[in-house]
Amino acid sequence: MSDRDPDCLFCKIAAGDIPSDRVYEDDAVIAFRDIHPQAPTHVLVVPRRHVPDVDTLADDDAGLLSALFAAVRRVAELEGLAKGYRVVTNVGAESGQSVFHLHLHLLGGRRMRWPPG
Ligand code: 5GP
Ligand code: ZN
Repeated sequence: MSDRDPDCLFCKIAAGDIPSDRVYEDDAVIAFRDIHPQAPTHVLVVPRRHVPDVDTLADDDAGLLSALFAAVRRVAELEGLAKGYRVVTNVGAESGQSVFHLHLHLLGGRRMRWPPG
């Protein structure tokens, strides 16, 4: 799969073609605030490479996963989430996925409920 899908919202955000409130970035990952936050901190941690979802990751994507979770830890530290936070990724329309470029929702700054709806 190509690194970029020209019709993909998060590819456009990663390229800087659509503005976002970035809180972290490195060679493999960008993190920016969700436009409709569901918690005091709601950041989307996104690979620069276009991958639709967890289902389409390859077995040799271990390095990408490691980079995503390293970014999660870094953002949690920057946001002061020492008491805890939640990481969620939706896979497919039935789960609620609406943007088909892999992203981890990092939510924190309030007490989380379980189970999620
Ligand atoms: P999903 O529903 O696919 O798990 O999550 C997509 C998320 O992207 C939603 O929480 C939604 O609020 C967020 N989102 C959609 N469009 C934009 C946008 O243009 N900018 C930002 N920062 N977030 C967006
Ligand atoms: Zn994309």
